[in-house]
Amino acid sequence: MTVTLLLEPLPADARIDDLASTFREVPADAPALRVGELSTQRGDGVFETISVTDGHAQETGPHLDRLRNSAVICELPEPNLAQWRAAIAAAVALLPARGEFALKLVLSRGVEHGPAPTAWLHAAPAADFARVREQGISVVTLDRGYAHDAAAKAPWLLLGAKTLSYATNMAALREARRRGADDTIFVSSDGFVMEGPTSSVILRHGEVYSTPAPSGAILHGTTQMSLFDHLAETGRTTEYRDVRVEELSTADAVWLVSSVRLAAGVTELDGAVFPYDADETRAFNDYLLTPRD
Ligand code: PLP
Repeated sequence: MTVTLLLEPLPADARIDDLASTFREVPADAPALRVGELSTQRGDGVFETISVTDGHAQETGPHLDRLRNSAVICELPEPNLAQWRAAIAAAVALLPARGEFALKLVLSRGVEHGPAPTAWLHAAPAADFARVREQGISVVTLDRGYAHDAAAKAPWLLLGAKTLSYATNMAALREARRRGADDTIFVSSDGFVMEGPTSSVILRHGEVYSTPAPSGAILHGTTQMSLFDHLAETGRTTEYRDVRVEELSTADAVWLVSSVRLAAGVTELDGAVFPYDADETRAFNDYLLTPRD
């Protein structure tokens, strides 16, 4: 069961009553993109992946904020958020009322020499992450190849934008698997914890939950933000800061968190058994599965 909607991207400030007339559904087996698409030729575009859980699109606002921020960093036309909201609602209405789906929003620079960006949205059933959420993941650290302050020094790297260019992220996952692990935590060349290739990192030392400061070199994760709000509301201490790689091994627990897989606790780090808090991981995922905005 998939749903694909093609949008005619509106300027960010356009006000249109009939937003439904600005997108249309495309059958799953119908051609939808032109060969000259810069998204497919160069990965030149930005995207978001939202979880739709039992008919609710999770954290739509933070995802759209990040889509806009990514577009600004990449000098793409700013998305019209009302249009995207309407398209998301239309896609969700076409999905079954129960179950977990991954809803991908894509804003591409468009066809080479073409007049406008291309935009689409595609929903498909989420992979079954029940076992990973229960039993956790083994992780290796991998060098990201740049310093944690690279974003300011080299803005053309587009760090901090969720671009379509995920080939290196996928290569890192393959390297992790070659090393016998399920996933990886990127470490900067100057020794700081960054993020996973598709997730944010949260550490707990005693009662304090920390995550690497979003300095521009990593994405600011919507799941991490939501979990930190929840932790703060329930009286826990959270902090953003630079986290040295050595602090991973002294943590009482570490999680990789992301929109669709949700919280995956680390059970093994660089080949060594790692303390895994099954109860807290379950509590995180129970919260993350509730409807969130
Ligand atoms: N960092 C990277 C590089 C990602 O690709 C993702 C999600 O795909 C995240 C962090 C986590 O973001 P979110 O919690 O919004 O899914």
